Amino acid sequence: MVALALVATVVATTGCAGKKESSSATTSSAVTTTAEETTKKQEVSTAETAASDTVQSPSSDAAQNGESKGKEATSQQETTKQQAANDTNTADAEPVQEEAAVNEDVEVLADIPDEVPLAAFTKTAETGYVTANRVNIRQQPSLSGKKMSSVNVGTKLRITGKADGWTQVEVNGKTGYVFAKYISSTQPQQTQSQQAAPQNAQNTQNTAKVNAQGDIGLDMSWKYANQSAIHSGSAKLYKASANRKGITIAVNAGHGTKGGESKKTLSHPDGSPKSTGGTNGKGAVKSIAVSSGMTFNDGTTEAAATLKMAQALKTELLNRGYDVVMIRDGADVQLDNIARTVIANNTSNAHIALHWDSTGNDKGAFYMKVPSTPSYKAMEPVASHWKQHDALGSALVGGLKGVGVKIFSGGSMEMDLTQTSYSTIPSVDIELGDKASDHSDATIQKLAKGLADGVGAYFGK
Ligand SMILES: [Zn+2]
Repeated sequence: MVALALVATVVATTGCAGKKESSSATTSSAVTTTAEETTKKQEVSTAETAASDTVQSPSSDAAQNGESKGKEATSQQETTKQQAANDTNTADAEPVQEEAAVNEDVEVLADIPDEVPLAAFTKTAETGYVTANRVNIRQQPSLSGKKMSSVNVGTKLRITGKADGWTQVEVNGKTGYVFAKYISSTQPQQTQSQQAAPQNAQNTQNTAKVNAQGDIGLDMSWKYANQSAIHSGSAKLYKASANRKGITIAVNAGHGTKGGESKKTLSHPDGSPKSTGGTNGKGAVKSIAVSSGMTFNDGTTEAAATLKMAQALKTELLNRGYDVVMIRDGADVQLDNIARTVIANNTSNAHIALHWDSTGNDKGAFYMKVPSTPSYKAMEPVASHWKQHDALGSALVGGLKGVGVKIFSGGSMEMDLTQTSYSTIPSVDIELGDKASDHSDATIQKLAKGLADGVGAYFGK
């Protein structure tokens, strides 16, 4: 099962300047179904793709898409339950919702009224929590009601009225309507534990919406989230099974976003130009959303190596009692550098992006240090966090050095990265070597130990 949202980060590194990839952007495909039941399912799944769309005007597109589908579906009420059942087996663009639907009794779903009259609502004043991701809030208690917004699992809502199948809520002073089945009076457990877990001083804003599978999508209400261009993918939370430290590390396998080079995002949150040149030139106001990365001399792609590295580091950290948010947990994640960073900001206590540089002389490992350019260091959120980034970077290089990894020069290189430009937690892009460096399993194990040692040194436990 996959999740829903997306995140992205732009890593403009000199190192990863590597080769370009001529891939075209992919957009999430909508569901193709006709059953009435499926229409209802779409209350949480369909049009929502809009939010995750990489297209500029997601809401209108998606809304139209979803609405027209809804109408089409309603007009085909002859559709049998059997077909509906088949539909639940159809691949969905949004597996999390799909699973929610599969777990539902289709007959029960069919019993939800398409719409109810306003007079049917009984006034109440309660608190409710959303139990699925991308649940629609509509202006009227009707499937054809205009969509106001969509909310994710764990979102707290003020309930003002109830009717058969529909719940009236107040959002930002406006009245809206939600399918009652997606509202619970109790806070979803995953959300509770996620909020309670990280107690480390570095980060007090952990309010991630995590579903039962651990999937974390980009919450568009998070700071800077609306500056990301690719955010339909999701990160994944893994919890340590023993000796938990209450510290969550975002492990970001660099690159691996198909179509990432065809989109651009602001280099800095305030729209100011880059202070150093790397993948994106000095002075660039916009940067590539996610670059494709380099290819090792032996033909391995950097993205493949960083994923392997991320998996090894995840295991090492979990064994030591850290929880891990895998920003990319497979070959591709539709999250750009900003989305990746924002997810890390809101779920983790530190963010480690894994890379190898594009030079070819096996020069050793180093971290990308915040440039000394005064204007850059004065810009938020860099101003408030660059010291943390440098401290974490030094600790990671120290950990690598401790296990015998070759270190480049002084262990750092100044670079203005999208990642650090948007990070509000200790955040580092670490370059573990370059095109000519060994990346065998044994080396990756050693690197994982060194990095975990560095994390331990940084947090002091
Ligand atoms: Zn890279």
